[in-house]
Amino acid sequence: MNASAFSVAAGPCSAESQETVDLCAQANSRLGIKYLRAGAYKIRTSAEAYEGEGRQAVEWVTQAAKKYDLRSIIECVDVSHLDEYEHVDIIQIGARNMYNTPLLRATAGSQKTVLLKRAFSATVDEWLKAAEKLDAAGADKIILCERGIRTFETSTRFTLDLAGALIAQRKSGLEVWADPSHASGDALLVPALSSAIYASGLDGLMIEAHPTPKKAKSDSRQTVSLSELDLLFAKLKN
Ligand code: PEP
Ligand code: MN
Repeated sequence: MNASAFSVAAGPCSAESQETVDLCAQANSRLGIKYLRAGAYKIRTSAEAYEGEGRQAVEWVTQAAKKYDLRSIIECVDVSHLDEYEHVDIIQIGARNMYNTPLLRATAGSQKTVLLKRAFSATVDEWLKAAEKLDAAGADKIILCERGIRTFETSTRFTLDLAGALIAQRKSGLEVWADPSHASGDALLVPALSSAIYASGLDGLMIEAHPTPKKAKSDSRQTVSLSELDLLFAKLKN
Protein backbone atom coordinates (compact mmCIF):
# COMPACT_ATOMS: atom_id res chain seq x y z
CA MET A 1 0.00 0.00 0.00
CA ASN A 2 1.30 3.40 -0.97
CA ALA A 3 1.15 5.38 2.29
CA SER A 4 0.37 8.63 0.53
CA ALA A 5 -2.66 7.03 -1.13
CA PHE A 6 -4.16 6.09 2.23
CA SER A 7 -6.79 8.61 3.37
CA VAL A 8 -7.39 9.58 6.98
CA ALA A 9 -10.39 11.51 8.30
CA ALA A 10 -10.69 12.60 11.92
CA GLY A 11 -12.92 14.86 13.95
CA PRO A 12 -15.68 14.94 16.53
CA CYS A 13 -18.79 12.80 16.42
CA SER A 14 -20.75 16.06 16.63
CA ALA A 15 -19.59 19.57 15.80
CA GLU A 16 -20.69 20.87 19.20
CA SER A 17 -19.02 24.26 19.05
CA GLN A 18 -16.82 26.32 16.79
CA GLU A 19 -13.95 25.86 19.24
CA THR A 20 -14.20 22.05 19.22
CA VAL A 21 -14.21 21.98 15.44
CA ASP A 22 -11.37 24.47 15.16
CA LEU A 23 -9.12 22.55 17.58
CA CYS A 24 -9.77 19.31 15.70
CA ALA A 25 -9.08 20.94 12.33
CA GLN A 26 -5.88 22.47 13.68
CA ALA A 27 -4.71 19.05 14.94
CA ASN A 28 -5.49 17.41 11.60
CA SER A 29 -3.57 20.06 9.75
CA ARG A 30 -0.56 19.70 12.08
CA LEU A 31 -0.54 15.92 11.67
CA GLY A 32 -1.08 15.87 7.92
CA ILE A 33 -4.60 14.40 8.18
CA LYS A 34 -6.41 15.66 5.10
CA TYR A 35 -10.09 15.13 5.96
CA LEU A 36 -12.16 16.73 8.72
CA ARG A 37 -15.22 14.71 9.76
CA ALA A 38 -17.97 15.99 12.05
CA GLY A 39 -21.68 15.48 12.53
CA ALA A 40 -24.25 18.27 12.29
CA TYR A 41 -27.62 16.52 12.45
CA LYS A 42 -27.34 13.38 14.55
CA ILE A 43 -29.75 10.45 14.44
CA ARG A 44 -29.74 9.11 18.01
CA THR A 45 -31.34 6.09 19.60
CA SER A 46 -32.98 7.91 22.54
CA ALA A 47 -35.48 10.71 22.24
CA GLU A 48 -33.62 12.72 24.92
CA ALA A 49 -30.16 12.35 23.35
CA TYR A 50 -28.21 15.28 21.87
CA GLU A 51 -29.05 15.74 18.17
CA GLY A 52 -26.36 18.20 17.09
CA GLU A 53 -26.16 21.86 16.14
CA GLY A 54 -27.60 21.45 12.64
CA ARG A 55 -27.06 24.21 10.08
CA GLN A 56 -24.71 26.10 12.40
CA ALA A 57 -22.48 23.01 12.68
CA VAL A 58 -22.29 22.68 8.89
CA GLU A 59 -21.00 26.25 8.78
CA TRP A 60 -18.40 25.71 11.53
CA VAL A 61 -17.06 22.59 9.82
CA THR A 62 -16.87 24.04 6.32
CA GLN A 63 -15.23 27.22 7.64
CA ALA A 64 -12.63 25.28 9.67
CA ALA A 65 -11.92 23.00 6.70
CA LYS A 66 -11.32 26.05 4.52
CA LYS A 67 -9.13 27.73 7.14
CA TYR A 68 -6.86 24.68 7.53
CA ASP A 69 -7.04 23.47 3.91
CA LEU A 70 -8.86 20.22 4.74
CA ARG A 71 -11.67 18.40 2.99
CA SER A 72 -14.90 18.34 4.99
CA ILE A 73 -17.07 15.26 5.50
CA ILE A 74 -20.52 15.78 7.04
CA GLU A 75 -23.43 13.36 7.22
CA CYS A 76 -26.69 14.45 5.63
CA VAL A 77 -29.79 12.84 7.15
CA ASP A 78 -32.58 14.61 5.30
CA VAL A 79 -33.13 15.55 1.65
CA SER A 80 -34.49 18.92 2.78
CA HIS A 81 -31.10 19.81 4.34
CA LEU A 82 -29.07 19.32 1.16
CA ASP A 83 -29.09 22.99 0.23
CA GLU A 84 -27.11 23.65 3.44
CA TYR A 85 -24.31 21.37 2.17
CA GLU A 86 -23.19 23.55 -0.74
CA HIS A 87 -19.70 24.08 0.70
CA VAL A 88 -19.25 20.54 2.04
CA ASP A 89 -16.71 18.45 0.10
CA ILE A 90 -17.96 14.95 0.91
CA ILE A 91 -21.50 14.09 1.95
CA GLN A 92 -21.78 11.12 4.26
CA ILE A 93 -24.73 8.75 4.19
CA GLY A 94 -24.92 7.23 7.65
CA ALA A 95 -25.44 3.57 8.48
CA ARG A 96 -29.06 4.22 9.43
CA ASN A 97 -29.78 5.75 6.02
CA MET A 98 -28.02 3.28 3.73
CA TYR A 99 -31.43 2.01 2.59
CA ASN A 100 -32.95 5.48 2.19
CA THR A 101 -33.26 5.54 -1.59
CA PRO A 102 -34.67 9.10 -1.92
CA LEU A 103 -31.75 10.41 0.17
CA LEU A 104 -29.22 8.39 -1.87
CA ARG A 105 -30.62 9.74 -5.15
CA ALA A 106 -30.81 13.34 -3.97
CA THR A 107 -27.27 13.21 -2.59
CA ALA A 108 -25.92 11.66 -5.79
CA GLY A 109 -27.54 14.51 -7.70
CA SER A 110 -25.53 17.06 -5.73
CA GLN A 111 -22.42 16.31 -7.86
CA LYS A 112 -20.31 15.79 -4.75
CA THR A 113 -18.34 12.83 -3.49
CA VAL A 114 -20.60 10.60 -1.40
CA LEU A 115 -19.27 8.47 1.46
CA LEU A 116 -21.65 5.57 1.96
CA LYS A 117 -21.53 3.85 5.32
CA ARG A 118 -22.58 0.23 5.56
CA ALA A 119 -25.81 -0.33 7.49
CA PHE A 120 -25.08 -2.48 10.52
CA SER A 121 -27.58 -5.04 9.24
CA ALA A 122 -26.45 -5.02 5.60
CA THR A 123 -24.69 -7.80 3.74
CA VAL A 124 -21.85 -6.76 1.46
CA ASP A 125 -24.14 -7.25 -1.54
CA GLU A 126 -26.84 -4.99 -0.08
CA TRP A 127 -24.20 -2.36 0.62
CA LEU A 128 -22.93 -2.58 -2.97
CA LYS A 129 -26.48 -2.36 -4.32
CA ALA A 130 -26.96 0.88 -2.38
CA ALA A 131 -23.73 2.14 -4.01
CA GLU A 132 -25.15 1.16 -7.41
CA LYS A 133 -28.14 3.42 -6.72
CA LEU A 134 -25.73 6.30 -6.11
CA ASP A 135 -23.90 5.48 -9.32
CA ALA A 136 -27.12 5.22 -11.32
CA ALA A 137 -28.22 8.60 -9.95
CA GLY A 138 -25.00 10.18 -11.23
CA ALA A 139 -22.80 10.41 -8.12
CA ASP A 140 -19.52 12.11 -8.94
CA LYS A 141 -17.39 9.80 -6.78
CA ILE A 142 -18.38 7.13 -4.24
CA ILE A 143 -16.39 6.03 -1.19
CA LEU A 144 -17.62 3.06 0.86
CA CYS A 145 -17.08 2.98 4.63
CA GLU A 146 -17.29 -0.12 6.82
CA ARG A 147 -18.36 0.87 10.35
CA GLY A 148 -19.08 -2.44 12.06
CA ILE A 149 -21.99 -4.82 11.77
CA ARG A 150 -24.26 -6.27 14.41
CA THR A 151 -23.38 -9.84 15.38
CA PHE A 152 -23.92 -12.07 18.43
CA GLU A 153 -20.79 -10.52 20.00
CA THR A 154 -21.55 -7.86 22.59
CA SER A 155 -18.07 -7.13 24.00
CA THR A 156 -17.66 -4.46 21.32
CA ARG A 157 -20.40 -2.05 20.18
CA PHE A 158 -20.45 -3.61 16.69
CA THR A 159 -18.10 -6.06 14.92
CA LEU A 160 -15.56 -4.65 12.48
CA ASP A 161 -15.92 -6.71 9.29
CA LEU A 162 -12.57 -6.18 7.61
CA ALA A 163 -12.94 -9.19 5.35
CA GLY A 164 -16.33 -7.95 4.16
CA ALA A 165 -14.83 -4.53 3.48
CA LEU A 166 -12.04 -6.13 1.42
CA ILE A 167 -14.62 -8.11 -0.57
CA ALA A 168 -16.53 -4.86 -1.17
CA GLN A 169 -13.30 -3.25 -2.37
CA ARG A 170 -12.53 -6.16 -4.71
CA LYS A 171 -16.06 -6.42 -6.12
CA SER A 172 -16.76 -2.72 -6.59
CA GLY A 173 -13.37 -1.27 -7.48
CA LEU A 174 -14.35 1.67 -5.26
CA GLU A 175 -12.31 3.16 -2.44
CA VAL A 176 -13.27 1.48 0.82
CA TRP A 177 -12.56 3.10 4.19
CA ALA A 178 -13.24 1.78 7.67
CA ASP A 179 -14.32 3.43 10.90
CA PRO A 180 -12.82 1.78 14.02
CA SER A 181 -14.62 4.18 16.37
CA HIS A 182 -18.21 3.17 15.66
CA ALA A 183 -17.17 -0.43 14.97
CA SER A 184 -15.66 -0.92 18.43
CA GLY A 185 -17.34 1.71 20.60
CA ASP A 186 -14.10 1.74 22.60
CA ALA A 187 -11.40 4.43 22.34
CA LEU A 188 -8.80 2.00 23.73
CA LEU A 189 -9.30 -0.28 20.72
CA VAL A 190 -9.15 2.47 18.10
CA PRO A 191 -5.31 2.63 17.71
CA ALA A 192 -4.89 -1.14 17.15
CA LEU A 193 -7.89 -1.33 14.81
CA SER A 194 -6.58 1.67 12.87
CA SER A 195 -3.27 -0.15 12.33
CA ALA A 196 -5.16 -3.27 11.26
CA ILE A 197 -7.25 -1.26 8.78
CA TYR A 198 -4.13 0.35 7.35
CA ALA A 199 -2.31 -2.99 7.08
CA SER A 200 -5.33 -4.69 5.47
CA GLY A 201 -5.02 -2.76 2.22
CA LEU A 202 -8.21 -0.75 2.60
CA ASP A 203 -8.07 2.81 1.32
CA GLY A 204 -8.85 4.95 4.33
CA LEU A 205 -9.75 5.43 7.93
CA MET A 206 -12.37 7.54 9.68
CA ILE A 207 -11.77 8.24 13.38
CA GLU A 208 -13.73 10.14 16.00
CA ALA A 209 -11.47 12.58 17.86
CA HIS A 210 -12.19 15.42 20.28
CA PRO A 211 -10.10 17.86 22.37
CA THR A 212 -11.73 16.49 25.56
CA PRO A 213 -13.45 13.17 24.77
CA LYS A 214 -15.03 12.88 28.21
CA LYS A 215 -16.99 16.07 27.50
CA ALA A 216 -18.14 15.00 24.01
CA LYS A 217 -21.92 15.14 23.80
CA SER A 218 -22.16 12.02 21.63
CA ASP A 219 -20.06 8.85 21.32
CA SER A 220 -17.70 9.96 24.09
CA ARG A 221 -16.47 6.44 24.97
CA GLN A 222 -15.24 5.67 21.48
CA THR A 223 -13.61 9.06 20.87
CA VAL A 224 -9.82 9.51 21.07
CA SER A 225 -8.17 12.69 22.35
CA LEU A 226 -6.06 14.80 20.02
CA SER A 227 -2.85 13.54 21.68
CA GLU A 228 -4.03 9.94 21.23
CA LEU A 229 -4.77 10.76 17.60
CA ASP A 230 -1.24 12.09 17.27
CA LEU A 231 0.28 8.84 18.66
CA LEU A 232 -2.01 6.62 16.64
CA PHE A 233 -1.24 8.45 13.42
CA ALA A 234 2.53 8.40 14.01
CA LYS A 235 2.40 4.64 14.62
CA LEU A 236 0.27 4.01 11.56
CA LYS A 237 2.97 5.15 9.19
CA ASN A 238 5.78 3.07 10.78
C1 PEP B 1 -20.98 9.02 12.22
O1 PEP B 1 -20.02 8.74 11.50
O2 PEP B 1 -21.05 10.08 12.85
C2 PEP B 1 -22.08 8.06 12.39
C3 PEP B 1 -23.23 8.42 12.94
O3 PEP B 1 -21.78 6.84 11.97
P1 PEP B 1 -22.74 5.61 11.59
O4 PEP B 1 -23.74 6.14 10.62
O5 PEP B 1 -21.77 4.64 11.02
O6 PEP B 1 -23.37 5.14 12.87
MN1 MN C 1 -20.43 9.04 16.32
